[in-house]
Amino acid sequence: MNIGVLGAGQLGRMLALAGYPLANRFTFLDTTGHPSAGIGEVLIDTDRRHLDAFLAKVDLVTYEFEHLPVELVSAIEEVKPVYPSSEAIRVCQNRAGEKALFDRLGIPTPAYRLVESAAELEAAAHELGCPVVAKSVTEGYDGKGQAVLRDPSEAQEAWRSIGHPRLIVESFIDFVREVSIIAVRGRDGEVVFYPMAENVHVDGILRYSIAPMPDLDDSVQLTADGYIRALLDELDYVGVLTLELFQARDGSLLANEMAPRVHNSGHWSMDGAVTSQFENHLRAIQGLPLGDTRARMPTCMINVIGREGDPAAILAIADAHLHRYDKSERLGRKLGHVNLLAPTHAELLDKVRTCVALLPGAPAPRFSFE
Ligand code: AMP
Repeated sequence: MNIGVLGAGQLGRMLALAGYPLANRFTFLDTTGHPSAGIGEVLIDTDRRHLDAFLAKVDLVTYEFEHLPVELVSAIEEVKPVYPSSEAIRVCQNRAGEKALFDRLGIPTPAYRLVESAAELEAAAHELGCPVVAKSVTEGYDGKGQAVLRDPSEAQEAWRSIGHPRLIVESFIDFVREVSIIAVRGRDGEVVFYPMAENVHVDGILRYSIAPMPDLDDSVQLTADGYIRALLDELDYVGVLTLELFQARDGSLLANEMAPRVHNSGHWSMDGAVTSQFENHLRAIQGLPLGDTRARMPTCMINVIGREGDPAAILAIADAHLHRYDKSERLGRKLGHVNLLAPTHAELLDKVRTCVALLPGAPAPRFSFE
């Protein structure tokens, strides 16, 4: 089976690494001009001249990046099976549509308003009560295109700094932690769920994920499973879906956003789970049985960002697994990640501190359960 992947970054690279044991071949279509997959065949297609060549090579198509033109994915769907469908991309590209879907399925979110001017932003900030977060409805990711308003009078400045004609304004949630749930749905509708992860972001970028969490109530995992199952079934989804949530002090969950793909907060599963998110995505889209999602041990994923550190020193830590993306160093760039495993969370946190000391510029980790 030759699998076509739209996008050619590290997520595509890790899909391919998981697919070779299944005798898959990979052909990537990169529309950015800056592919980093470094594996399989990469067609660079910044001017849409290579789509036919790509489609001629592949049996089915998936994607590792959702900021793709929906009409491109719809056109591909006319020729080859695409999993997940273009509908998932359409929903995930627009924060307003995504929130409307959450509302319709009874998935709680922060209170929000949609605004189309600085005056409306100011009114929404009054109505919701500051602080609020304003986000561009489209094209935002990793905290880009966002501003926090501490007071409604900051509306003009926030509107100018975001520079987008339509914003979503949300109540700023005083969360205990950020968490994510990753689930996989097969072509036959079977669904499996990974243990939820606690995710630590700094400046909008994920730095640490820990799964399973030591103090997560089973009922909270079941609630999250229910939310993501509703999304998977509603979209008749095939593959891996990620839902990011805030957990409040009373344990309740509020959905923030979803991603129709394998996700950075699921990288722990490469070494920490019986079946990784990448393998399970490939199993799902090929109509194969889904693999066991259980964690082998408490696992922490540490993103390597900007600078690499000394790989030999990192690998000297027991049960440390280094995944490098073969990219050049650049401020803020995701270059790799380390998965650390330990029998207990206390031992895991010791290892995390040892590893962080080896990563230049890594912020001190702080988890909710420490
Ligand atoms: P997003 O691009 O929506 O994932 O937002 C990036 C980060 O901003 C999140 O991971 C949170 O740390 C923070 N954030 C976004 N929305 C909210 C909110 N409503 N309340 C508090 N923090 C938020």
